[in-house]
Amino acid sequence: MKYSIVGGNIVTPEFIIHHSSLSIENGKIVKIGQVEDKEDFKIQLNPGSFIFPALINAHDHLLGTYYPRVGSGPYLNWLPWDNDLKSHNIYRERNQISVEDIYLLGSYRNLISGAATVSDLIPHAVNDPLIPKMPVRVIKDYTVEHECSSFDLRWGRGISMEHREAVEKNIPFITHLEEGYDEESTLGVDILGELKALDEHTVLIHGLSFSEKDIDRIAASKANVVWCPTSNYFMYKETTNIKRLLEKGVNVSLGTDSPMSGGLNILEEMQFAFSLYQQLYQEEIDYKTLVKMVTTNPANAFRLKGLGKIEIGSSADLLIIEGGETQNPYKSLVNAWFDNIQLVIKEGAPVYGSNEYLEAFKKSHSHYQLIRLNGKEKILIGKPIDLYKRIWNNISTEKILPFFPIDF
Ligand SMILES: [Zn+2]
Repeated sequence: MKYSIVGGNIVTPEFIIHHSSLSIENGKIVKIGQVEDKEDFKIQLNPGSFIFPALINAHDHLLGTYYPRVGSGPYLNWLPWDNDLKSHNIYRERNQISVEDIYLLGSYRNLISGAATVSDLIPHAVNDPLIPKMPVRVIKDYTVEHECSSFDLRWGRGISMEHREAVEKNIPFITHLEEGYDEESTLGVDILGELKALDEHTVLIHGLSFSEKDIDRIAASKANVVWCPTSNYFMYKETTNIKRLLEKGVNVSLGTDSPMSGGLNILEEMQFAFSLYQQLYQEEIDYKTLVKMVTTNPANAFRLKGLGKIEIGSSADLLIIEGGETQNPYKSLVNAWFDNIQLVIKEGAPVYGSNEYLEAFKKSHSHYQLIRLNGKEKILIGKPIDLYKRIWNNISTEKILPFFPIDF
């Protein structure tokens, strides 16, 4: 399949090209600023549209996709929150839904907020069979630990072995770290350092109790950090020392965490990150810095070739938005909400968008449904209406989840 997208402004953290076009063939970007002669179809954008790389949500637990949030922080560390969650009736309600359906819900939560790729931190035994069935791209190549403390949930085979495999395969080693203020949690960076598991393959989630020395060590070792401000603030009324991480040049990405502790979606996460930074430091974080945290930075952290950017040969993973400030497209993306999203494309195929792009969906998929979302007519890949009906059947109530607000 070969087609072009014409009439939008291409925006990446590196450049902006006004009134340009993209040619897409076999899921990849093949030309920028030129339209091919023989194409299967053309997507004409409205003037003023912005074409971004599709977003990457750097931290989620798809298995935890449910609502409302559970917990009564501030907590000392993640363990009492986990206990509160697992003894709550909302957790029991969630467990009436099949794991595959919860994963589909999590996929849609990401797709309709512009994230075509998500990092799902969980043991491989849980997500390996589900990943090929998901409409969103779930990162499949990683090694994992839950945390690096004596009381963690033992998701991996031990830090050294997981990290070594990551280096051998050139994939990320991902773990929560220093998510808490007890003595052991605060030693996370030291423990990884001693085990020689702190390098550019390492992706550290949260880092609430990172000291200045920890951050210097992370910067020197080129390890990566994922910031989850909404989840941190909900559970601890605190967050990591984001200012120092940025000053030291650490590769920081943004993640939502699951909606049972974190933000509704990656759009809300960017907005909360902006306002929290302002509240903490009485200065603004650059909008472009936040856009990097959902595009190029996670692509680097998770070693995802051809994602998070728009260039010839990269995957045609695109997010097209409309409205907002035309003078500063980065600000438009940070402030975007459901209504601003026109189209989400994953590997060249539209997966979510406005009903005016119906022809493009017809040419790309056999399964999609017309839905009303947040009051607007949209098209979504798969069978989202059937999913909602199954969930209602399981939980015996017609619940609408605010991160996936279909109007019935
Ligand atoms: Zn997490």
